[in-house]
Amino acid sequence: MARTRTPVVSGWFADTPEGFRLLGTECSACAALFFPREDAYCRNPHCPGGGALVEVPLSPRGRVWSYTDGRYRPPAPYVSDPDAPWEPYTLVAVELEAEGMVVLGQAAPGVTVADLEVGMEVEVVGGVLDEDAGTTWTTWRFRPVEGAR
Ligand SMILES: [Zn+2]
Repeated sequence: MARTRTPVVSGWFADTPEGFRLLGTECSACAALFFPREDAYCRNPHCPGGGALVEVPLSPRGRVWSYTDGRYRPPAPYVSDPDAPWEPYTLVAVELEAEGMVVLGQAAPGVTVADLEVGMEVEVVGGVLDEDAGTTWTTWRFRPVEGAR
């Protein structure tokens, strides 16, 4: 049976005609940008108010701001199968090119801390967080831009 591909968080990312993008929201009154998206009200204390929060795709590229890896299983409430072998993962904080905001995400499969440097150019790509019987849970990942190393 084919699994349904479902975003692990609805509305945070999408495949667009221009490619895979994180989705934020922008206040039409003060141009404040939010990721994770803010849909209820503008959080800028200096906002004149009255603006709508409009969904905007974020820059597909940015530069590594910091990174680390998780080599040990975190304690509860982290959800994982204690009987499955722990798979180390790499976390990257990326400063998006145009927005200047720092976004956290996992590195693409096969990318380790040895492959990363602060300031390196990376791009956001679609990825898989988890799979169960009926669903492939999709998420975003960062990977070095080809030729940027
Ligand atoms: Zn605002």
